[in-house]
Amino acid sequence: MYKYTLEKKSVKHICPGCNKKRFVRYVDSETNEYLSHIVGRCDREVNCAYHYSPKSYFEDRSCRLP
Ligand SMILES: [Zn+2]
Repeated sequence: MYKYTLEKKSVKHICPGCNKKRFVRYVDSETNEYLSHIVGRCDREVNCAYHYSPKSYFEDRSCRLP
């Protein structure tokens, strides 16, 4: 079950990978709150292909916690 989905509104943010305003962020499907600003997908699939999923984000974060 995925609680987080890519934001459906066509709002674009600055991509952490390429710094272009082509970045779609993940939102909590229940509260509509954004996840971290680095979690999302760039729509410049050929030139950038940045994609950081909520799953990876939480896995990475849990690894860093004591
Ligand atoms: Zn990008």
